[in-house]
Amino acid sequence: MTQIDKTAPVMVTGATGYVAGWVVKKLLDEGFTVHAAVRNPDAAEKLKYLNEVAGKSTGKIKYFKADLLEEGSYAKSMEGCQLVYHTASPFTVHVKDPQKELIDPAKLGTRNVLEQANKTDSVKRVVVTSSCAAIYGDNIDLQKTKNCAFTEEDWNETSSLDHQAYSYSKKLAEKEAWEIAEKQDRWDLVVVNPSFVVGPGVNPKGTSESFAIMKQFGDGTMKTGAPRWGMGVIDVRDLAEAHYNAGFIPEAKGRHIISAHNSDFVEMAQSLIKHYGKAYPFPRKALPKGMVWLLGPLLTAGLTRKMINLNVNHPFKADNSKSIRELGMNYRSLDESMVDFFQQLIDTGVFDR
Ligand code: NAP
Repeated sequence: MTQIDKTAPVMVTGATGYVAGWVVKKLLDEGFTVHAAVRNPDAAEKLKYLNEVAGKSTGKIKYFKADLLEEGSYAKSMEGCQLVYHTASPFTVHVKDPQKELIDPAKLGTRNVLEQANKTDSVKRVVVTSSCAAIYGDNIDLQKTKNCAFTEEDWNETSSLDHQAYSYSKKLAEKEAWEIAEKQDRWDLVVVNPSFVVGPGVNPKGTSESFAIMKQFGDGTMKTGAPRWGMGVIDVRDLAEAHYNAGFIPEAKGRHIISAHNSDFVEMAQSLIKHYGKAYPFPRKALPKGMVWLLGPLLTAGLTRKMINLNVNHPFKADNSKSIRELGMNYRSLDESMVDFFQQLIDTGVFDR
């Protein structure tokens, strides 16, 4: 049982990120002082959105310069905080050197932040933003689960540096977090494991992979159809609620799958078609797997035939009951999340060309 003093500042790593944006907003709206650890506190354009949110809230935001790969760089931002949210980690699939660009910042960064928690006496709880990617590697892994659904007991055993390197980075980072947490008993670790995140960003020009994927629904990339690639979907606003509750519910414990819908690209597009009709070149049918296998790797950087074999026409199913029972989650509809996100892309001019 961990009681967090609501007058103490709360630290958020990677505060300029897509997921972190709504976590910071929630904390500011609740009146907290947020210690926002960011790579570049002079990036006026990125901080503008957080400053606007802070201006309309009862809370305060203070920026601190920190980098996942610079040991000790989170010391100042953590000072006096009882609760630390560690969200920073690169989320991209387009990398040349996965070790340098994904694994090192994810794993060494987690070590850096959590070792700092060990050195900061005020810290009582650390909430780490992991991922469903730390739970499974490919959809085909579902066949090895006990009740045909991924649960918090599952770990990704199939990703590697050469196959699904982002997922591998998330598994290594979360393992690292548990290893460090279990060696001490002053602070407890609570982990959230979101599936694919959608929904409007606090910063409407986010650089998370979520924006790039959502754009492809409307820019013609998928106009001939989409692969039936199973995935879980969670709204970024619901995910912020999950982070908040993971931080403040005294009994919160362990890992939590945060995923509202077991879905796939074709079904996700249906939410947009219902709302926008023929206004955009949405994918209207599922592509035959053979065609995806043949053409996918030629058209999409980073997509391999192995990934297609193990994921296309294989469903994703996760059991989110722990999040409902223990974090009080009440998930919004897929239609609402998809339409609100797509509308934000329209409003920012992404399709004006
Ligand atoms: P994002 O917008 O790209 O945010 C990533 C954050 O990490 C950014 O704030 C970035 O800082 C920071 N970061 C990256 N490298 C860093 C470094 N070397 N030092 C310090 N900060 C660094 O992506 P996101 O989607 O919000 O992802 C946030 C977290 O959610 C990640 O842990 C990700 O794995 C997890 N997650 C995301 C999804 C999803 O579908 N989006 C799903 C499951 C889990 P800058 O702003 O300076 O670039």
